Amino acid sequence: MMSAGVVIGPDELEQLVKALLARGYRALGPVVRDGAIILGEVEGTAELPKGWQDNQAPGSYSLNQTGSHNLFDWAVGPQSVKAEVFPPRSTIWTAKPPGYVVEEVPDEAAPVAVIGARPCDLAGLDVLGRALVNGSAADPTFQRRSGGAFLVVAECTHPANTCFCVSMGTGPGASHGFDVRLTELPGAGTEDPRYLALAGTRQGRELLDGLPGRPAQPADEAERVNLLARAASRMGRSVDNAGLPELLARNLSNPRWDDVAERCLACGNCTAVCPTCFCANFEDTTDLQGTVRRQRTWASCSDLAHSYVHGGPVRSSIKSRYRQWATHKFSWWWDQFGTSGCIGCGRCITWCPAGIDITEEIAALRASDGAASTTKGAGER
Ligand code: SF4
Ligand code: SF4
Repeated sequence: MMSAGVVIGPDELEQLVKALLARGYRALGPVVRDGAIILGEVEGTAELPKGWQDNQAPGSYSLNQTGSHNLFDWAVGPQSVKAEVFPPRSTIWTAKPPGYVVEEVPDEAAPVAVIGARPCDLAGLDVLGRALVNGSAADPTFQRRSGGAFLVVAECTHPANTCFCVSMGTGPGASHGFDVRLTELPGAGTEDPRYLALAGTRQGRELLDGLPGRPAQPADEAERVNLLARAASRMGRSVDNAGLPELLARNLSNPRWDDVAERCLACGNCTAVCPTCFCANFEDTTDLQGTVRRQRTWASCSDLAHSYVHGGPVRSSIKSRYRQWATHKFSWWWDQFGTSGCIGCGRCITWCPAGIDITEEIAALRASDGAASTTKGAGER
């Protein structure tokens, strides 16, 4: 459902957050914490990152304050919406003595409203949903939380050097998947910005109808189009997707995997920050009272233990684990879920301590298409 947009100011944006809180949502928004912009609980717009910009490069992230009144002059932080809808740790069931009847632990978190999700975040939720709603890894917590979330997307007008959403078709604008779409129309200097707001759902429409604001004019939409075109032209990176699943599938023995394995620390940062990685471990623990708890925790394909099958790990080398991550994202994901597993947010590039850049690795594989490694274990999965 789309309808005509309205233009609101900072006061109306504050009212929007308050209206969501009044409706019983927990409001999550971008906040500056520990030197990064992350998603935190907010009571209003005062906590949003006014005037902050991010600077990102492979293995590098910093913030600077410009003094502007804009709230969305940054790209993405380390944390995506994934942590909210697919928590890093969940208790699935418990069983208590003496009978040890298994009881599911219901997820009782209040529904969440995310203020300032990025278009790539929406794409990430869609990709995750293919695995966690209908797929073999269906997850009730994800289904409940993502289905009940109210999403206020802020279109991206300040992409980072590490972003490549244009080449993945996921940004910098958003056309669907949101309740309300905001485009920040910046003020000059320290003037307040305005927000071109559009409802994408009935709930979004009801919310916007309750706010004062003027109907959007063609000039507002033209400004939005210009801002997005400028953002797209400043995208720091790109991936050539032509025949990529097949390219990766036929290059499992390419020596480039040896090269990247020399640099990869197998730390798991790339999977922890990725908005679409959904691998999990299930672990049963027992406390001193004898209560058993089954917990689901995020896992990483770069972790040696995650490839343990009866008798030992099936991917014993870093090379095979990095290759598993990259080929699953950009190749096998298509077979399983009909889409790429990557939405081009660039987080894995920024937060890799070794500065490994997946776009560079893919370009190198393409440039050496067909080359074969002679090292031992070239065919190891
Ligand atoms: S693989 Fe990297 S760029 Fe792609 S979605 Fe995951 S973190 Fe973002
Ligand atoms: S690619 Fe980078 S972030 Fe990922 S496991 Fe290797 S060193 Fe860590």
